[in-house]
Amino acid sequence: MLDVANLEVVYNDVVLVLRGISLQVPDGKIVALLGANGAGKTTVSRAVTGLLDIHEGDITKGSVTFNGVDQTKSKAAAIVKSGISLVMEGRRIFAELNVDENLATGGYTNQDKKKVAAQYDKVMELFPSLTSRRKDIAGYLSGGEQQMLAIGRALMSDPKLIILDEPSLGLAPLLVQLVRDIIVDINKESGTSILLIEQNANMALSISDFAYIMETGKVVMDGEPKKLLQNEDVQEFYLGLHAEGERKSFRDVKHYKRRKRWLS
Ligand code: ATP
Repeated sequence: MLDVANLEVVYNDVVLVLRGISLQVPDGKIVALLGANGAGKTTVSRAVTGLLDIHEGDITKGSVTFNGVDQTKSKAAAIVKSGISLVMEGRRIFAELNVDENLATGGYTNQDKKKVAAQYDKVMELFPSLTSRRKDIAGYLSGGEQQMLAIGRALMSDPKLIILDEPSLGLAPLLVQLVRDIIVDINKESGTSILLIEQNANMALSISDFAYIMETGKVVMDGEPKKLLQNEDVQEFYLGLHAEGERKSFRDVKHYKRRKRWLS
């Protein structure tokens, strides 16, 4: 189980981005972390995976515990070894490497070659469309295939927990569905826990066991998807539905109005 407790993160010693956020991902569950642009979702993923220092960020309060072990100060490689794997926002694959080489980088921390080979077979089973493209340069793959590759690479370390940062971003609706189904498959078949960071609340709430909504570095609401889907504010601001069922764009809503409602 991942336990993020009262976490505070500051960039460049001055910019306070996470303001005491707490969340849990129990074993074998899919947990969604929702929020608008700039809410701090990516910063949560960096804090949990040891990637803050690359971005001049620091954890100034709180803790990150994974399966009972304090990881607050652990380095990224040690965190991968402990069983946490990240699929970064924007399908960060190695564009100049081919598909197999990209996958090999994901298995790098595992010394057991047999296990790595078994994971490779699993990835190919999960993403049949990659099998015919194994020697193709990743940069030439379609957006959807690059996302599959990014997820496949994260699976190569045989993680207990995968953090996916906006996997649906920029994908056509059919591909979003495909990615969603793949997340469910990964969770079902290997019991891998998932922290699904998304702006696509519809997609995330349709498959998660529990969800958190964050704004400006804090959790403003949490609960089971059923409960959140019935909430008027969630409908209006995250599902693009007005209370009366009229479509409304989240981007059109003034920030102060949102804050006022959450805090009231
Ligand atoms: P998005 O959906 O746009 O990725 P997000 O919810 O993931 O948004 P973050 O990327 O965590 O949010 O950013 C939260 C805030 O932290 C933003 O205001 C952003 O400008 C700021 N921020 C992010 N990275 C840095 C950095 N390296 N240095 C300073 N500020 C940063």
